[in-house]
Amino acid sequence: MTRVEEQIRADIVEAGRRLYARSYVASNDGNISARLDDSRLIATPKSVCKGFMTPDMMVIVDYEGHKLSGERDPSTELPMHLEIYRNRPDAGAVVHAHPPLATGFAVAGIPLTRAVLAEVITTLGSIPIAAYGTPSTSELPEAVRKYIRAHDGMLLANHGAVTCGTDVFAAYYKMETIEHFAKISLVARMLGGENLISRDEVERLQGLRGMYGIPSPAPLCADPSQGVGDQVVCQVLEAPDSPDERLVPDVSLALKQASRDGEIRLTYGELTALIADAVRTLKD
Ligand SMILES: [Zn+2]
Repeated sequence: MTRVEEQIRADIVEAGRRLYARSYVASNDGNISARLDDSRLIATPKSVCKGFMTPDMMVIVDYEGHKLSGERDPSTELPMHLEIYRNRPDAGAVVHAHPPLATGFAVAGIPLTRAVLAEVITTLGSIPIAAYGTPSTSELPEAVRKYIRAHDGMLLANHGAVTCGTDVFAAYYKMETIEHFAKISLVARMLGGENLISRDEVERLQGLRGMYGIPSPAPLCADPSQGVGDQVVCQVLEAPDSPDERLVPDVSLALKQASRDGEIRLTYGELTALIADAVRTLKD
């Protein structure tokens, strides 16, 4: 076994340990794979807890998914990984997990597409939701195919999340970023909603990618309907046009909530402003 192969096996074991330790997977959930060379991949085996793997458990497969060596069988989600490698020659590794907060957004059908955190805008941009597909069938790879050319990470409706990166840890860290972003988004929404970062600032942040050595994901969509065949080639990011401001209040939030359940919810600040305005009108 080459040093490279030994290192990849060790990295997959460590990434699996971290996924399990951080509760991004329960029981035997999740799977990890990495390119070994032009004809072979190393993948996690099926039916094992990712928190307790050893390097010898890994399976070597070709890019069609045929097992070349290993005592166990590869994960049943391997076709989703293969679809990502086919569409992304730059992807060296794929991580799939069920982190509870990100998966909560995936279950609620709410994508993580708002421009709110600089590090997310710089590294991932927008995180869409791939349509639901029955696990272990061709539905899931087909759903992922739609977004993978333009996104390094996405939620999987009613399932979990998947990320790719140049190596095992790059893909793993993107999973961490998605879960962290989901947690912050949830808290901000419980506190009344996010202030969004303006499109101008988003462009400035994405311009810094080169400085951090981050390979550029797809550009932002000028026209969200643009694509190549059935594949999306740009990212939709909710970032209001407000050239003079870096942060702009998300005014659509209260309206969206009102249309959902017939109630209008206001933050304390918005309510105070409304009362002050009403009092002023009464005085006049
Ligand atoms: Zn899964």
